[in-house]
Amino acid sequence: MVTTYQNFISGKWVNGQTGETSPSTNPADLGDIVGEFQKSTAEDAGAAITAAHTAKAAWGSASGLARGQYLLKAASYLESHVEEFAQAITREAGKAILESRGEVGRAIALLQYFGVDGSNPVGTVVPSVNPNILLYTNRVSLGVVSLITPWNFPLAIPIWKMAPALVYGNTIVLKPASAAPLVSTLIARMWAEVGLPDGVFNLVTGSGGAIGGELVTNPAVDAVSFTGSTKVGYGIAVDSAKNGNRYQLEMGGKNPVIVLPDADLEQAAEITVAGAMKYSGQKCTATSRAIVVGGVTEEFTSLVVEKTRALKIGPGVDEGSVIVPVIDEASRENIKSAIARGVKDGGNVLSGGGVPSGDGFDNGTFVEPTVITKVAPDAFVACEEIFGPVLSIIPAQGYDEAVQIANSVEYGLSAGVFTRSLNSAMDFANRIEAGIVKINGETAGVEPQVPFGGMKSSSTGNREQGKAAIEFFTQTKTIYMDRSAT
Ligand code: NAP
Repeated sequence: MVTTYQNFISGKWVNGQTGETSPSTNPADLGDIVGEFQKSTAEDAGAAITAAHTAKAAWGSASGLARGQYLLKAASYLESHVEEFAQAITREAGKAILESRGEVGRAIALLQYFGVDGSNPVGTVVPSVNPNILLYTNRVSLGVVSLITPWNFPLAIPIWKMAPALVYGNTIVLKPASAAPLVSTLIARMWAEVGLPDGVFNLVTGSGGAIGGELVTNPAVDAVSFTGSTKVGYGIAVDSAKNGNRYQLEMGGKNPVIVLPDADLEQAAEITVAGAMKYSGQKCTATSRAIVVGGVTEEFTSLVVEKTRALKIGPGVDEGSVIVPVIDEASRENIKSAIARGVKDGGNVLSGGGVPSGDGFDNGTFVEPTVITKVAPDAFVACEEIFGPVLSIIPAQGYDEAVQIANSVEYGLSAGVFTRSLNSAMDFANRIEAGIVKINGETAGVEPQVPFGGMKSSSTGNREQGKAAIEFFTQTKTIYMDRSAT
């Protein structure tokens, strides 16, 4: 029997106003219904916002240390539920189980990091020109924050937003992507189990089109933290600006690696394929362009093709699978048409390009890992985010041209260079327009204790995670305390 999941508002599990639900399916087996989820309305979202608003005064005035304790308890809770969360991620988002376990590990690390951060200093004392004045800064919470998240990291992304949001004193409403809402109900259960006060965390499921507007424009909302596509993100920016709300957007990518002739080609090919193909390229930081300089293009390409062909395609629950199904039919169709357009634009498909069929594949949304060569830098496939297992190989005459090609797209999330030259590595780090730079490393894969975010259309620039998170989730007060009047 299919389980129906509810919203979580003010510490209670509740149905949406209409009682209607919509199913979420397993992309490896579309006949497997993961669950039925509330099709919430703007009124449901409004109720969640009211709950967060009611809870904000008490939560905002608790000590950071006390708030941090809840995060540390949540980290322990997750540590004892790793397999349950990992299996849920794999079942609803299709991710390979090893990567799902890694995602749970990352969520634990984030909760620990921000849990401890609750006891760190939040302001500074600054010498005043007047010796009678104690001049200092303090950071205070924003209030109610809406968190709108995508399906590809259904645990890590909500946690990397909510851990700092909560520890710095905000109350929150989470709206997960409709394609992967199950994990967010497990997150709600986690907060209930660790005794988070009612209304501090609230969950509403439902389509972004139906409830997104309320989550951004309700007058009780003070800020929005969004991760998803650039198109939706910019709409949220416009509405937030009109309402005077703070907003943070992390969006798409078209991440390049540059391969220089002095690189260890074997290693460069291995890392490029991992970055492009793991989780079937459905990471915002996935490698989607390999720009190869000089005479090594042929050798690098054949290594990439050989390694791509060796990747195991299968459902995420099989431990060896690397190429897992993409999130849904619509996504598979988009990927297929992007490949077709790449061919029409003169690209040459050397590996993949189609859809696997037969036992184990026919019920899922699989796409073969695809390598396209001879791609012009301004071709659609080389400029637009595809969000699938597709790597374009683009030849460049020299290093300067490679950097120019790498910087020629609208995105600037993550980028890498493969070289043995310290000089080239440092020059690349200076010139590349990307928020995350990898030298001889995979474009995907980041650590939680350092800032995360992109440049250009990939981000609004206010970084997430690490020490940077406090900048978005708090506001600064400057206090002048004059003892001469006392
Ligand atoms: P999406 O379609 O933009 O959806 C993201 C979230 O926004 C979902 O919860 C969605 O709800 C919601 N939404 C949709 N329309 C809305 C509206 N009008 N108002 C408010 N919310 C709305 O993105 P996605 O397909 O889930 O995720 C893939 C994208 O995310 C890719 O572009 C990827 O690069 C990006 N991403 C970026 C990062 C990063 O850190 N830079 C990380 C991961 C993913 P529904 O699901 O109900 O439509």
